[in-house]
Order: sequence, then C-alpha cells, then structure tokens
Amino acid sequence: MLKVIEVLSGENARKIVELLIKNGKGMSDEEISNTLNLRVNDVRRILYDLASNGFVAYKRSSGENSRWYSYIWFTDKDMIMQAIGKRKREVLRILSEWLSRSESLPTYICPYDYSLYTFDDAFENSFRCIKCGADLVEIDNRKVVEFVKNLVNKLNKST
Ligand SMILES: [Zn+2]
Repeated sequence: MLKVIEVLSGENARKIVELLIKNGKGMSDEEISNTLNLRVNDVRRILYDLASNGFVAYKRSSGENSRWYSYIWFTDKDMIMQAIGKRKREVLRILSEWLSRSESLPTYICPYDYSLYTFDDAFENSFRCIKCGADLVEIDNRKVVEFVKNLVNKLNKST
C-alpha cells in the first residue's frame, strides 16, 4: 500500500503518509517537517500533491491566540485504499479504451518519411506511401497489445 505511494509520489511522500498514519490525530506541516527533517516547503508541496490524489486530507484550525489559520493534515488506511482504488480504476479505463481502439492503430509505416497507415489505407494504396511511393513496412503491434492486455488482467485481479 505504501509502496504504491512511493512509486506515484516519491520516497518522501511515503515517509509523510507513514508518519500521518502512525500519528493518527493529524499534524501541521511544521510538525511533519521537524519530525522527518525535511524542508517545510518540500513538505507542503508533497502534501498538496498527495491531497490532490486523495491520499491525505486537511482541516483548517485557528489557534486561540492566533489570527492565522494553520492546516492540520491527516490520513488513514481507508482513505488511502480508496484513493488507490480510484487511481486503479482510472488507469483501467484508459487502458481498456486504448485496447478497444487497438484494431484501428496504424500497422504500416513509410521507412523514409515515417508516415503511418492503417491496414485499410495501406491496402487501398497497394502498400505504397502516398507521399513518396516507397514500399510500406509492417509494424508489429501485437506485442504491445498483448502487454496491455496482461496489465489489465493483473490490475483487475488485484482489486
Ligand atoms: Zn513515404
């Protein structure tokens, strides 16, 4: 679970999330920065990035003697599992969409000017380039399609 965050947002992001889970009550960016010995600007940047992906959330609190708001950051395992699930569904949607169009991907290329042709277009032009007349070369998309199919299967199984 934390590994996913490290892959998506880096090692410091993982450390911050780990700390917030352990802490449980919520922490200000200064507290996080002091505990982990990271620059407070870096901590803030990472926190906003994490929040935009739903991995952490914040609430504003105003101290009694202070005119300033401070932000208290928090997260828990449920929030993180939900965010990972959402991310996974997004990736699945994009990959499935790509696969559904893979039939119409270009499968021929001109070796001189790199123009791309679908099978139908290449067939219509007797497998010659419209621009320069060169013989078109077939591209093998099958490995890419196979790779994406495997990836989709793995993602589906891991939910
Ligand atoms: Zn050409």
